[in-house]
Amino acid sequence: MSKDEYTPTIGIECHVQLKTKTKLFAAVGNDARQAPPNTLISHICLGMPGALPVLNEKALELAARAAFVLNTKPQPFSKFDRKHYFYPDLPKGYQITQYEQPIILGGYVEVPVEGQQKRVGIIRVHLEEDAGKNIHPAGADYSLVDLNRAGTPLLEIVSEPEIHSAAEAKAFARELWLIMKYADVTDGDLYHGHVRFDVNSSVSKDPTKMGIRSEIKNLNSFRSVEGAVAYEIDRQIELLEKGEKVVQETRGWDEATQKTIGQRGKEEAQDYRYMPEPDIPPIELSTQDIEKFKQGLPLLPADIRRELIDIKLDSKTIEDVLDHPDIANYILIVKKNAGIRSAHRSTFLKLHFRNQEEAGEGDLIKIDPDRIKQLTELSIDGLLSSTAERIVYQEMLKSSEAPKTIAERMNLVQVSDEGEIDKIVAEVLKENAKVAEDVKKGETKAIGFLVGQVMAKSKGKANPGLAQQIIKKQLGI
Ligand code: MN
Repeated sequence: MSKDEYTPTIGIECHVQLKTKTKLFAAVGNDARQAPPNTLISHICLGMPGALPVLNEKALELAARAAFVLNTKPQPFSKFDRKHYFYPDLPKGYQITQYEQPIILGGYVEVPVEGQQKRVGIIRVHLEEDAGKNIHPAGADYSLVDLNRAGTPLLEIVSEPEIHSAAEAKAFARELWLIMKYADVTDGDLYHGHVRFDVNSSVSKDPTKMGIRSEIKNLNSFRSVEGAVAYEIDRQIELLEKGEKVVQETRGWDEATQKTIGQRGKEEAQDYRYMPEPDIPPIELSTQDIEKFKQGLPLLPADIRRELIDIKLDSKTIEDVLDHPDIANYILIVKKNAGIRSAHRSTFLKLHFRNQEEAGEGDLIKIDPDRIKQLTELSIDGLLSSTAERIVYQEMLKSSEAPKTIAERMNLVQVSDEGEIDKIVAEVLKENAKVAEDVKKGETKAIGFLVGQVMAKSKGKANPGLAQQIIKKQLGI
């Protein structure tokens, strides 16, 4: 059998938790990461009879911003619906979502995949509330319900089935996450499930027809998206090659074994008895409202990639930087204020000390663009080795002194004075006449030894590049 005979087709649904202070329809705190169970709740989250939900304006603003960064506009008219189902984490017995007329229709994401751009269309994006969480304590004969998450504002983004490999699925998931994070639509904390992916995968021998699909829900890393899709493509092809059928079902992803496992079939479509939500008026946006939402859109990953290519970073480093918006923004400020070379060098310093700075051991503000410029110029001018540059940088996280003062205080300034190095080289060549002779005769590897001697004699402060040049000059090679 040949895998190449099959076309895989993947569509992804993504739930993004909006960065609001309060819930979608209630003035109750929204950050459930630290809160004890059932402390972020109100009569609205609990679905008490008579409770009246009120739409959070900030959630609407973020949804509208999402429309622009997905290369479209928010719909002038959208509305909420009730989606009914029974589950213990849903006290109202229905979820408030948008079914018939969602806030966003259309749009697309430009996804970088292996050096190419791939455009993946968006079918729709709707605003909805999250449910609570059921907890099943190990060994207990009861379950617990935590409703802190109930009513959390989510955007559900549904892609066109235009993804055709595991690598593309991973790249799409990451790009969507980056875009939503840079647009400040979400905190994007993957560990706490702020962005979750459901993937629908199928394979078909006929590229014009889609096969029967499986759905894997609630993946919360790009690697698991990639792994689940790759596994499903192989599993489905294997079934078809054996003459068996793929069944339409929901499967779970097992991180430990890197496999998907059948969970429940979809013998019949569930009837959610959708009905218009009578307690919340429709959202009507005028042209002026829409224009207002468009103001002040931040730089997006694609814009930042272009800026970082300008400062001559390789693509691996660029993607590392993009994972940390605060670093990306810092580097752009350095680029603007201190130029390309300083921005280039400070990127590596920033990435190197990232963990330390994130742990709060350093203060980002202390290293303003002007100080980073002074530091990087010291190394560009050959006064600091790259090791010394790091040491000074680390010290700058704690001290507001000028980098040069720190370098002098710590005795780290390299000697780049030719006269001084000339003298040291002359001594070294005299003391190592045999090696000097060998180098002259073509044993070029031995030059490293001589440079080492110069470094030692200068107590590590000679500029090694310059030392090598001067050695060659004195030897006449
Ligand atoms: Mn949903």
